[in-house]
Amino acid sequence: MRILVIGAGVAGMTAAYSLTQSGHQVTVLDREPLAGNGASFANGAQLSYSYVAPLAAPGVAKKALGWMLDAEAPLRLHPRLEPAQWRWLLDFLRCCTAERFEATTVELLGLGAYSRRMVHNLLQREALEFAWAVNGKLVVYRDEKELAGAAEVVRLQARHGSEQAVLDAGECLALEPALEALRGVLAGGIHTPSEEVGDAHRFCQELRRVLAPQGVEFLFGRNALGLLLQNGAARGVTTVEGPLHADAVVLAGGAAAVHLLRPHGIRLPIYPLRGYSLTLPVAAHHLSPRISITDSHHKIVYAPLQDRHGHQLRVAGMVDLAGEKAEQPARRLATLSRQAEASFPAAGDWTQARSWAGLRPATPDGKPIIGASGIPGLWLNVGHGALGFTLAPATAQLLTDMIDGQAPALDPAPFALRRPTTAQSVAAPA
Ligand SMILES: Cc1cc2nc3c(=O)[nH]c(=O)nc-3n(C[C@H](O)[C@H](O)[C@H](O)COP(=O)(O)OP(=O)(O)OC[C@H]3O[C@@H](n4cnc5c(N)ncnc54)[C@H](O)[C@@H]3O)c2cc1C
Repeated sequence: MRILVIGAGVAGMTAAYSLTQSGHQVTVLDREPLAGNGASFANGAQLSYSYVAPLAAPGVAKKALGWMLDAEAPLRLHPRLEPAQWRWLLDFLRCCTAERFEATTVELLGLGAYSRRMVHNLLQREALEFAWAVNGKLVVYRDEKELAGAAEVVRLQARHGSEQAVLDAGECLALEPALEALRGVLAGGIHTPSEEVGDAHRFCQELRRVLAPQGVEFLFGRNALGLLLQNGAARGVTTVEGPLHADAVVLAGGAAAVHLLRPHGIRLPIYPLRGYSLTLPVAAHHLSPRISITDSHHKIVYAPLQDRHGHQLRVAGMVDLAGEKAEQPARRLATLSRQAEASFPAAGDWTQARSWAGLRPATPDGKPIIGASGIPGLWLNVGHGALGFTLAPATAQLLTDMIDGQAPALDPAPFALRRPTTAQSVAAPA
């Protein structure tokens, strides 16, 4: 089939790869000039297959009330006269039950494990350079009670195959000497040796490099204005430059995907959760983390990105519900920078860190939306939220299997557009 993929982020590029391997003739369209210029640009760089627990957790609603009054909080709500924001928040609050949290965590763990397999298969077939490394992740806690809670989750995850260890403060410092500035502050941590890192933007660029000689066409700087429908089925898109025809369309438009479906009466339950990152150049004499660190107190992740091009520390965090602009408010970035520097003062020259803001395409329950859209010929690979880099290789393969009419390796029902937590949010197609 001729398949048009809208979006050249991690979701669109991995879909383009899977579809091409399955024998389809693929065109990728993006309004940006390069692949991976949206949320996939300078994200937290974590391939976090075992850390998939959704934001919608029991107790988050109570904590969020406190955060709303604190300008330095990891999560900030900027209330807007925007029904989509309030609808998303209500759906999100409905998902914050213990039962939902546990069910979603288990479903995402399955998807995460499958994604690890897909990444490793991909790396066996293609020589991709994107600073990929299996360097493990250490989530550190400053509060004994929080550490005890995390140890509970380790027990839940162990039942589903995750290999993780609970470490005391001394063991954390022995494992990662760059944590020195937090000596006396840490309660302990959870170590997952199998976690990986990589540069998502370079990953997208590398997929483009290997796909172009395989016949995939890339149309950059082209905006899909609307769907082209024939007898009710999607058969391409309209653009300023003219129509683009295809036998099927895959929508992988990240946070902007909602706009193409709205005119057709389909409301995707996706809201942009803005986050920020800093990329710090690291020299040999700096004391910078060698493994991935998540600072649970500040909700900040740190990922070392090292390859023949150099060594950098990627720092990412914060969730702002503030609409669709990827703005970089000076105050939020200053907070991120100050907290990161206080934790890792010798990691590099913090005045040289490059800042970035991106929009996580988030669903209320934290699960991506994969599969049929309600419009024949239009397929969805959207809503990857805070885990798009981690999950996209899996969702791309699931989607390809569905398009091909093959039985997917995992049950795709928990990731369908119509599922219990989103049913109320989805209007019937016009
Ligand atoms: C601060 C931050 C840290 C993160 N850290 C991590 C992490 O450590 N690990 C992890 O797994 N995930 C992380 N994420 C999440 C991850 O980056 C996203 O889930 C992922 O990038 C989403 O990919 P996507 O392809 O769906 O969207 P995008 O990368 O945004 O791509 C969508 C593309 O579609 C294009 N597009 C949309 N509409 C149209 C249209 N009408 N016409 C043409 N083009 C269109 C856009 O231009 C864009 O390029 C993080 C996100 C943020 C913001």
